[in-house]
Amino acid sequence: METTDVLVIGGGPAGAAAAITLARGGVRCAVLEGSPAPAWKIGETLAPEARQILAALGVWDKFQADGHLPSPGNVSLWGGDEPVEKNFIFNPHGNAWQLDRAKFEAMLLAAAGSAGARVERGVAAQAIRRVADGVGGWEVAAADGKIFRAAWLVDASGRASAVARQHGVARAALDKLVAVHAVVPAPESDTDARTLIEARPGGWWYFARVPGARRVFAFLTDADLLPDERQWRTAEWFWRQAEETNLIRTVLSGWSATSPARSSGPERAGTSRSTSDAPKLTSAQSARLATVYGDGWLAVGDAAQSFDPLSGEGLFHALFSGERAAQALFENFSGRVDALADYAGLSASLWERFLRQRAAAYSAETRWPDTPFWQRRLATATSPVQAAGPNASR
Ligand SMILES: Cc1cc2nc3c(=O)[nH]c(=O)nc-3n(C[C@H](O)[C@H](O)[C@H](O)COP(=O)(O)OP(=O)(O)OC[C@H]3O[C@@H](n4cnc5c(N)ncnc54)[C@H](O)[C@@H]3O)c2cc1C
Repeated sequence: METTDVLVIGGGPAGAAAAITLARGGVRCAVLEGSPAPAWKIGETLAPEARQILAALGVWDKFQADGHLPSPGNVSLWGGDEPVEKNFIFNPHGNAWQLDRAKFEAMLLAAAGSAGARVERGVAAQAIRRVADGVGGWEVAAADGKIFRAAWLVDASGRASAVARQHGVARAALDKLVAVHAVVPAPESDTDARTLIEARPGGWWYFARVPGARRVFAFLTDADLLPDERQWRTAEWFWRQAEETNLIRTVLSGWSATSPARSSGPERAGTSRSTSDAPKLTSAQSARLATVYGDGWLAVGDAAQSFDPLSGEGLFHALFSGERAAQALFENFSGRVDALADYAGLSASLWERFLRQRAAAYSAETRWPDTPFWQRRLATATSPVQAAGPNASR
């Protein structure tokens, strides 16, 4: 049995940020990360504001050396037929970044290890229970049979909210948003690192270039608005939808004389389509736990609250909340009784701000009031509406 003071469940950006901060502050902690090796994940644009947190975590130099692509801004076709460009020239934090996500997460977990956290890769927490033997704390049984004990748990398990859900904390979702996405090789001539966003009658698209000469394409819609799975899982269906856009079609037409719709997938720079081009589905719901902390635990990142990808703030929030939660634990350990409640208050104010931005962004698109996707968005846009589009980092 392994014992530690704080056990972080999940080694994504939120868990790593919490572990780095705890370990640097001298707290004995361990991270359990279910996946055995860093892997590609959807979610690639890091907002400029993340720079200050990466610096505070002591990883800014490492981050810069890892070959992520500086992104000067985004272009959106949203609420009208003319593309609108937003760039980061006046952002005091500089540009955004298109990440090699696997490298980014590997760097953060390595930094947690260097700071003194014990990092257990390929170890998924399975049964999470309160210990009732007088010692108190938690016992976590991993899928591989290992047992861990800790006084505190940090739930950094992403949308799974593994700790909170096992303890009956409800997670309420605002919508049924999903992303159908594919990552494909792009020709070397395609050097545009901006994020391109386009509203469509049934949802919206984004696509972005990432390191390694690849592009991520994602179509966001509600799960119940997708056709039968046998259809949407095919590259044919996905690229046919892409062909109906304006921005994506323009980019793809520059890649090859062969139409993606006709070839059922982009014929990139002479590369033929592989089965890995088949689209995948990921939940993209805006959702939040009923409470982000309780007796001996607190939640960070997507485990606490996950934002519509339109906000472009998920990664920033993951890093920020991981760091803030660790600070709240330090304060709690040194006897400040309100520290965790203050952390919860901060989470609530970030959620309120996100709701206002989400309402404003979706309300700015009024071209398809009769389609279910936009009817639902317009119905839930309750806040005062300003002319807006996708947020600065999207
Ligand atoms: C379609 C889409 C596009 C997005 N685009 C962007 C974007 O461009 N910019 C942006 O900022 N954000 C984006 N996001 C959001 C962003 O990806 C998330 O907010 C971010 O990954 C949250 O980080 P996290 O560490 O909280 O969770 P995650 O990154 O989900 O990490 C959780 C980790 O916990 C591990 N885990 C889960 N359960 C267990 C367990 N039981 N035991 C051990 N380990 C476990 C998982 O393996 C995982 O590594 C996007 C999201 C979606 C769905």
